[in-house]
Amino acid sequence: MGIVEAKDLTYEYIRRDEEGNVEGITRAVDEVSFHIQPGEFIAILGHNGSGKSTLAKHINAILYPTEGTIWVDGMDTQDEKQLWNVRQTAGMVFQNPDNQIIGQVVEEDVGFGPENMGIPTEEIWQRVEESLRAVGMYQFRKYSPNKLSGGQKQRVSIAGVLAMHPKCIVLDEPTAMLDPNGRKEVIRAVRGLNQVEGVTVILITHYMEEIVHADHVFVMDQGKIAMEGTPREIFSQVDRLQDLRLDVPQVTLLAYELQNRGLPLPDGILTTEELVQALGL
Ligand code: ADP
Ligand code: MG
Repeated sequence: MGIVEAKDLTYEYIRRDEEGNVEGITRAVDEVSFHIQPGEFIAILGHNGSGKSTLAKHINAILYPTEGTIWVDGMDTQDEKQLWNVRQTAGMVFQNPDNQIIGQVVEEDVGFGPENMGIPTEEIWQRVEESLRAVGMYQFRKYSPNKLSGGQKQRVSIAGVLAMHPKCIVLDEPTAMLDPNGRKEVIRAVRGLNQVEGVTVILITHYMEEIVHADHVFVMDQGKIAMEGTPREIFSQVDRLQDLRLDVPQVTLLAYELQNRGLPLPDGILTTEELVQALGL
């Protein structure tokens, strides 16, 4: 069984008036099915309102399906007895690092999760050290989080999740509030978790350049998975991506235009380096 599996997952937000009568229903996730294997790096793309966050909240049992089922490491998230196991197996990192850091000192913040799980003190310190090293923040362990940049804070949030030894981390637009440098730092840390620590990563983003290293990409539109494939398969469908209101990277667009004008280039150019090589320069 996969680490995360969904079958016909559907979620509806229901708006009610003061008397409790239903005013409207938004189907935010619409009969979605997928399998994610342990150790995979999955990227989920989609414009605003396409249902990415609603889907992500199901993986961490913050929301439960209106219809259909989602399993995390074989556990049905609707099984109340498994709630804490589900949450510990699939950790979640959100957009705003300021809402996620509660400790006065970095290392203390990272230790909160394992402490709440009842992990013995000595092991907590070991986990804090390992987690901070994994995201490149160990040298900042004695800092006050409010002295850190956005990218550094976000890496501390990731370390906090990592210290709970999750099998899977879901990151919901973790770079949306960061400057380009912060974005790179966070993406590098996330890749490290996946490649070095073997953690399954589900990265939600609307920055296409962040999906280059993913094993598999889902593109969401109106609550459905509208496209899926490797980054190259996705990037080679420029017209379709633009239909789905996604910003295709400049270099991919340029390669696509050159191809349309008859230049023999491979499909789905993702980086400047690839274009330079394909042009034989
Ligand atoms: P994304 O993360 O891709 O931007 P969301 O999952 O946040 O998408 O939203 C999907 C749809 O559900 C949108 O139409 C949004 O307006 C609606 N929605 C999201 N959160 C709520 C909520 N708390 N109450 C009602 N509707 C919501
Ligand atoms: Mg969202």
